[in-house]
Amino acid sequence: MSAQVNETLIRDVVAEVLSRLGGPSAPAKPASAPTVNPACGCPVEGKPPRAVTRGRFGVFQDANEACEAAHEAYLQLSEKGVAGRNRVVQIVKDLCFANAKEWARLELEETKIGRLDHKIEKLLSQRGIPGVEFLNPYGLSGDHGITLEEYAPFGVIGAVTPSTHSIPTMACNIISMAAAGNAAVFNAHPAAYKCAVTAARVFNEAIHRELGIENLACVIDPPTLDSFNAIAKNEHVKLLCVTGGPGVVKAAMASGKRAICAGPGNPPVLVDGTSCLNNAAKCVIFGAAYDNNLLCIGEKEVFVLESVFDRFMAALEKQGAFRLNEAQVAKLTQAAFVFPAGQGAGCPHPVVNRELVGRDPEVLARIAGATIPSGTQLLFAETGADHLFVEEEQMMPFLPIVRVKSVEEGIVEAKKAEHGYKHSAIIHSHDVANMTAMARALETTLFIKNGACVAGLGNGGEGYPNFSIATTTGEGICNPRTFTRVRRCVMVDKLRIF
Ligand code: NAD
Repeated sequence: MSAQVNETLIRDVVAEVLSRLGGPSAPAKPASAPTVNPACGCPVEGKPPRAVTRGRFGVFQDANEACEAAHEAYLQLSEKGVAGRNRVVQIVKDLCFANAKEWARLELEETKIGRLDHKIEKLLSQRGIPGVEFLNPYGLSGDHGITLEEYAPFGVIGAVTPSTHSIPTMACNIISMAAAGNAAVFNAHPAAYKCAVTAARVFNEAIHRELGIENLACVIDPPTLDSFNAIAKNEHVKLLCVTGGPGVVKAAMASGKRAICAGPGNPPVLVDGTSCLNNAAKCVIFGAAYDNNLLCIGEKEVFVLESVFDRFMAALEKQGAFRLNEAQVAKLTQAAFVFPAGQGAGCPHPVVNRELVGRDPEVLARIAGATIPSGTQLLFAETGADHLFVEEEQMMPFLPIVRVKSVEEGIVEAKKAEHGYKHSAIIHSHDVANMTAMARALETTLFIKNGACVAGLGNGGEGYPNFSIATTTGEGICNPRTFTRVRRCVMVDKLRIF
C-alpha cells in the first residue's frame, strides 16, 4: 500500500470518528449536500457525497475525488443564495489582503521567479476583482409580457493556472467563479503548486467556518498532466478555464469541453514621438520591469520611430534603465535561448531558457558581462526586428528596442511580433490616426495608450483587474459573467405593469 493511500485512509477514519463523537474537538459539521434542488424542490441528481471528501479543505491527490467534492460544494453554494456567494468573494479577498506578504514570499521561494514587491501587489489587487454585482440580469418588457435573461452558473469549472502568478490567478478565478455560483478544481503549474495548495486550504477552511462548505475551490496535490486529463474528462466538470502558454491552450481546446483560454502574448509597444518621450520611457520601464516581466500583458519589445530613437534611448537611461552594448546582448541572447535537439527540421526552433525567465536584472547583467547600479529595474538595447528577444515571449527584464522608419513600418513589425495572439499592445502617441491604425491592425484584446501595460488591468488606468485574460477564445478580461450560462425566463402577456 502506498504512503498516499495510507494518508487518505487515516484522514477518512479520523474524520469519521470525530464526526461520530460530535464532541468539542470534532470539526464543525459540514453542510450536507442538498437532496433537493433549492430552486424547484426536485430531487438532486448524482451520487450522495462520500466520506472521502471530509477533512480535506479542498486538497486532493485524486482529481476525480476533487471533482466530486467540488460538485457537492457547488450544490451547497446554490443553497446559500446570493448572500453566500458574496461571503465567499469577501473571504477570498480578505485572506489575500491579510496574507499578501506571506503568500507572496511562499510563491517566490517556490518558483524563484519575479519580484516580491509585485507579488505582494498582485495579491492586494484582488480587492478590485468584480463580484456578484457584475451579474445584472438583462430585462425586456413589452406587449407580450416580460422576459429576463439571467447569468446562471455552470457548476464545476476545471481550471489551470500558470507558474508566473499562481496564487493570484487561482484567487481571482475563485472570486469570479464563485460570484457566479460555481465551484472549481485547480491543476496548478507543477513548479508553483505548493503555494496554491497552502492558499486553497486556507480559503476552504475559512469558507467552511462561515458557510459550512468544505471544498468549493479544490486543488490537486501534486498536479500532473494525468490529473489535468482526469479533470477535463470528469462528468461534473462543465467548463474549463486555462491560463498559460500555447501547450495548455491546445490541450484544453482538444478536450472536447468548452474552454475559456487565457493564452500567451508578446505585447509590442510603438513610440511615434508625438507624445512625451520621458513619460513613454517611464511607462515602458514600469510595465516591462513588473515582476521581472512575467506579466502576459508586459511590454516585450518596443518599436521607435527613427527620428526620435536616440532621444528615446536617452530617456530610458535617464529613467533608470541600463543599456547593454552589442557584445553584451549577444552573450545574453546565447544564454537566454536554447535549441533543443530534435525540434525543427535542420534548423531547430529556439526555446526560451526557463532558467532565466523572471530572474532579476542583476542575474541577466552578470551573464551579459555588465555591471549595473544596484536597484536597476530593467536592461535594454537596440536590436533588429528579427532578433530572438523580439520574436519570442521571453519574460525577462531585458527589453529589445527596434528602430523603424515610419509608423506604418512600426505597425507591420509590431503585428509580426505579436504573432496574432490578439493579446495586448501599447502605443505612446498623441496622434489619433496612429492609435486607430495600430488598434485596427493588431486587433488585440487590450490596447493601451500612453500608459504602462498594467493600466490595462486597472493599475494606473480605469477598469477592473484579473489575471486571466481570455485572448484565444475571445471572452476578454475574465469577470463573473465569463463563468455563466445565459438563461432566459419568459412570462407571456402578464406582469408588465403599465
Ligand atoms: P505554461 O504554458 O508552461 O503553463 C501554464 C499551465 O499549463 C501550467 O499549469 C502547466 O502545468 C499547464 N500545462 C502546460 N502544458 C499543458 C498540457 N499540455 N496539458 C495540460 N496542462 C498543461 O505557462 P507558464 O510559464 O506557467 O506561464 C506563462 C505563459 O502563460 C505565457 O505564455 C503567458 O503569456 C501566459 N499567460 C497568459 C495569461 C493570460 O491571461 N492570457 C496570464 C498569465 C500567463
